[in-house]
Amino acid sequence: MILTLDLGTTSNRCLAISSTGQCAASAQQEFKQYFPNPAWVEHDPTEIWTSTLTVLKTVIDQIDIQNVSAIAITNQRETVVAWDKHTGKALHNAIVWQCRRTAERMQDFSKSDQTLIKNKTGLPTDAYFSASKMEWLYNNVDAVKEAALTHSLCFGTIDSWVLFQLTQKKCFTSDPSNASRTLLYNIHSLDYDPDLLTLFNIQREWLPSIKESNACFGYSDPSITTKPIPIHAILGDQQASLFAQCGNDTHTIKNTYGTGLFICASTGKKVIDSPSLVSTIGWHINNKTTYAVEGSIFVGGAAIQWLRDGLELITDASESNDLAQSVKDTHDVYVVPALTGLGAPHWDSSARGLIVGITRGTTKAHIVRATLESLAYQTKDVIETITPFLPGIRCLKVDGGATNNDFLMQFQADITGLTVNKAETSETTAYGVAGLAGISCNIFTEKEFRHMLSTKTCYNPTFKKDKIDVLYTRWKKAVQKSSQWIS
Ligand code: ADP
Repeated sequence: MILTLDLGTTSNRCLAISSTGQCAASAQQEFKQYFPNPAWVEHDPTEIWTSTLTVLKTVIDQIDIQNVSAIAITNQRETVVAWDKHTGKALHNAIVWQCRRTAERMQDFSKSDQTLIKNKTGLPTDAYFSASKMEWLYNNVDAVKEAALTHSLCFGTIDSWVLFQLTQKKCFTSDPSNASRTLLYNIHSLDYDPDLLTLFNIQREWLPSIKESNACFGYSDPSITTKPIPIHAILGDQQASLFAQCGNDTHTIKNTYGTGLFICASTGKKVIDSPSLVSTIGWHINNKTTYAVEGSIFVGGAAIQWLRDGLELITDASESNDLAQSVKDTHDVYVVPALTGLGAPHWDSSARGLIVGITRGTTKAHIVRATLESLAYQTKDVIETITPFLPGIRCLKVDGGATNNDFLMQFQADITGLTVNKAETSETTAYGVAGLAGISCNIFTEKEFRHMLSTKTCYNPTFKKDKIDVLYTRWKKAVQKSSQWIS
């Protein structure tokens, strides 16, 4: 069995995945989201670790630990934790990938700096990535500055934070899929880049060492797992899901409908150069890098959470399906959920959300339906940008919480004209990294692993091109209206 830790944005999970792909036991725990200012998002690193421990121990209690050969870790990316190397204590709350506190700072960079950053990292100069969050912590938190002075500062993403704790402070390491999201890692030379470190005033000694994504990263402390277990794969969550859904196949595309939307495709050895897309490392295994192209959208399922918690239009996310289907269309209402700005392919941090096209006849069902549709339109925006680089894509493979919404999945197929395939398992992220660990430890072959991930539901497109054109033109008009809202 492989004990798989899936460390998400809103919850941590642990799954025990058997050599035949069965989930023998699982546990999940949500953790608190902190919003100290509008558009700021934080997590408590200690709570992230204690909830990881809780789900890990809950699963261990249900299985025979002697059957476990490896631990695999997949995680929310970009989120930064600062901690002390000696005490292992966090020095501040984690700054989450969604947090926009450094948006203004990122506008300070000259055009030539932005080009340098894009050429070296494949990423746009955006607050979404880790570097400016680290810089903010250094500039604003005394404890972080003091730790830097005494050479005990560790800056890491969630994988390295949890690995550090799981190995009782022995391993301060990350993998290239996570490192490639920091804005400090050169995706061509596969190392932190001195020019980038200088731009953000980050010292190399504060950062984790990098090992291949399927390396043995170290051993779990026996006080936690009763025996030392090798930690044998680390992948950022989107790369893990990409590994499960597409592997090295460059003719499929995947979208994960979680808090955000993450559309990715493998590009093999090719690094795609597009101003509105992100090129990133999919995985680096056995001395070979597989690159990926990605369009990240900040607000996906989070828009449904906002309908529930902010507007109180629904009491549960699943209600949105029936409400959307209770009306035959949105009555021309469009929702652009740019609640924290717009990500790919627009990269407009000054955009803000809007609801447009409201009339006296508009009901909450129309608004709920338009919000669900906005997830599909945002996905289409990214797919339209990717397809010129990867022609011949016919299939969209989907996973994540919001794929439970049949209305959304059918509308996604209709508006993109692609077949949408939902996997049998809803846990493709966990399966992806477990697959990598399992293949690396010879628990199963890649072919056997691909066999474990059969399609459960297939949604075929039904809209004619004319209809798509009318709807999509309106959507683009709505996006334009939401752009550049705040100065
Ligand atoms: P994450 O890993 O980012 O925490 P998940 O994959 O667990 O996200 O998905 C949770 C998200 O999916 C939430 O934002 C929630 O609003 C959304 N969601 C869950 N079920 C549904 C549903 N039936 N319809 C629409 N959205 C849903």
